[in-house]
Amino acid sequence: MKTSSKKTRISTQIVNVNGVKIGGDHFTVIAGPCSIENPNQFLTTAEGVKASGAVLLRGGIWKLRTSPSTFQGLGSESFDFIREVCRKTGLGLVSEITDIRQMEELHDVVDMFQVGSRNMHNYALLKELGKINKPILLKRGFAALIEEWIKAAEYITNGGNNQVVLCERGIRTFETATRNTLDLNAVAYVKRATSLPVIVDPSHAVGISELVPDMALAAAASGADGIIVEVHPKPEEALSDGQQALTLENFSTMMQKLNRMLLALDHPLQTFSSPEMSL
Ligand code: PEP
Ligand code: MN
Repeated sequence: MKTSSKKTRISTQIVNVNGVKIGGDHFTVIAGPCSIENPNQFLTTAEGVKASGAVLLRGGIWKLRTSPSTFQGLGSESFDFIREVCRKTGLGLVSEITDIRQMEELHDVVDMFQVGSRNMHNYALLKELGKINKPILLKRGFAALIEEWIKAAEYITNGGNNQVVLCERGIRTFETATRNTLDLNAVAYVKRATSLPVIVDPSHAVGISELVPDMALAAAASGADGIIVEVHPKPEEALSDGQQALTLENFSTMMQKLNRMLLALDHPLQTFSSPEMSL
């Protein structure tokens, strides 16, 4: 009997974001601020996370905040400097589309559209995203059943866009000590129930920066295809989600641990020198 550990990995569809593959033999790390706040904050974060091994950038342009009186994102006034940061670093951008009406203007700025937890049930949006040629990161609704999440993905794939990555970001349970409860059962489950890659967002799941690295390692152990993590050069000054953001230093330390663990799991970190990287 062949004992190649590759056999234990479940084959998934591979989603290509700006040359970076999500799914398959490598573990992909996406990192960046919760919100894009200004040119300096975004560039410093982008350069820092890239130096530690992130291959894609995250950052909110329009934010869906629980309170309407909190920072809602810079919106289109940030497009020019965002393009500049992506060009300078060579990193593709994952950012949330919060409304169908943003589709056209975001198209040339964002490499992967994130559908946030609050919009997982927005079927009109999902149907429109099914018609376009752009990868989609579909977060699980914080109160969605796994089955509802899978069906939400079908709203996109049924339209012809099969470039979909699922993201477990924690669900609401009776527990209030942490922001949400990270459902790693769901990762193992959907890896078998669908052919789509699955990543984990430990930041929104746990909501406490000190606990994020442990949950990132747990995500890797659960068989996830990657993680998306919030990082800020000065978390105490962040305009959103500072309490769960890693500093650049803590992100670097986490990446070193993750790298060692992924090697032991025979699921190495994707880097810009991975053979299949087409950049
Ligand atoms: C985010 O990624 O910043 C975000 C708002 O995530 P979620 O939709 O999972 O709450
Ligand atoms: Mn956030």
